[in-house]
Amino acid sequence: MRTLVMKFGGSSVGTKTALTQVLSIVLSEREQWDRIILVVSALDGVTDALIEAAHLAHLGNQRGYRRIVANLRTRHMALIEELPLSPTERAALQADIDRLLFDMLDIYEVMSNTPAETPIPHLVDSTIGVGEKLAARLVAALLRQKDIRSVALDTGDLVITDEVFGNAMPNLELTRERIEKNLLPSLERDIMPVVTGFIGSTPSGKPTTLGRGGSDYTASVFAVCVNADEVWIWSGVDGMMTTDPREVPHARVIPKLSYGEVAEMAYFGARVLHARMIGPLRERHIPLRIKNVFKPQLPGTLIHDSRPDPTQSLKAVTSIAGLGLSAPHNGPLGPISTLVDQTLFATTHNRADVMIASQSATHSFACFLVPTSAGPDALHTIRTELEDSLQDNPEIGRWTVKPVSIITVIRDHIDETSGLTAGIIQALNGIRILGLSQAPSRCSLSIVVEAENSERALLTIHDLILSSA
Ligand code: ASP
Ligand code: MG
Repeated sequence: MRTLVMKFGGSSVGTKTALTQVLSIVLSEREQWDRIILVVSALDGVTDALIEAAHLAHLGNQRGYRRIVANLRTRHMALIEELPLSPTERAALQADIDRLLFDMLDIYEVMSNTPAETPIPHLVDSTIGVGEKLAARLVAALLRQKDIRSVALDTGDLVITDEVFGNAMPNLELTRERIEKNLLPSLERDIMPVVTGFIGSTPSGKPTTLGRGGSDYTASVFAVCVNADEVWIWSGVDGMMTTDPREVPHARVIPKLSYGEVAEMAYFGARVLHARMIGPLRERHIPLRIKNVFKPQLPGTLIHDSRPDPTQSLKAVTSIAGLGLSAPHNGPLGPISTLVDQTLFATTHNRADVMIASQSATHSFACFLVPTSAGPDALHTIRTELEDSLQDNPEIGRWTVKPVSIITVIRDHIDETSGLTAGIIQALNGIRILGLSQAPSRCSLSIVVEAENSERALLTIHDLILSSA
């Protein structure tokens, strides 16, 4: 029984053109596989809008959130109008969408009656996953129109998670039980489920979400729970790239990566994948492919178990924002780490990842990652809040905060091939290095530089990768 899990990202479900591609991909893969499970994200930009709406609701700004809901409704309804659906299917879909949006407005109402200082993360999570519910219904309707037996399934009752609202972690055992009970019977009846990415719930049924970009994680959780043979992530890029193509247009596709390499890439800011999705696949040796929905004929990137290859060159370089904290004294780093962790958690719901900490006889330096998933303003917000807390807690020491960049070079066993590390450092000649660390996975080397040197360092190392390929 060969099973494929395919996840379609926001850019592959956001327009009629993209959905037409999705349909043709599903029709052709259906011939090759016994069972297919589809996982979908919200349409491009929808989750951002929902997060904004939840924020406005909590501030009591009724006009603000209603405007956002009205825009979302218009966008989805306009897309439905364009799609080749029968009048009954279209009417049912429209009614479904209205019901979901009405229910959401009720929750906003509750939020706006909750004092702004009372945290309401579970209410927020029950609204920000609505984009996935809308998208799943849309795709399932489209498939039915092509005579594929398909249903949209909300993963709220299937993916069981911890209580870290906004960034929850699925419990694979509980999730597997639910999937076996509630999803496998449909698969056996030859029904193709279209499941919502991103959303789950706690064992007691409170809605949660898996962190930004979490639909990838949903795909990997489903793959593990149904013993899938492969997972394919469809998005608008050709595969995993040697660096972010938005910053370096001549970046190239990487044909193959190991799980270790891709996990480090995702952790250090390659936005194509959710960092925590790799672990479950690696444990089960389930191959993962990254493919472009608009160019399905391209091979994309294959991520799989691989043997160490001493002849292989450097694979990729990423750049991620970080915070560098320096102090003109040395001593325990515990208090400062706790402060950063608390600030980061309060603003982004992410725990702080210490990248590098180092001390000399007279100075200390600590560098923390700011996950790209935390959003574009996170760095600024965290920095300001940290500066305030440092002022309020002078006993922690005289720390100063500044934005830094963490440039990470990716390759399995980067320390094993002679000359690789030396070559990287040499190439950065003239750029001040604030810190250096090799990941314990031995798949990456990270170099901390001042934010203003970020682009130059990234381009220099990228040139090194292309010239050694
Ligand atoms: N829609 C969610 C987000 O924008 C989840 C995902 O796209 O994977 O983060
Ligand atoms: Mg994504």
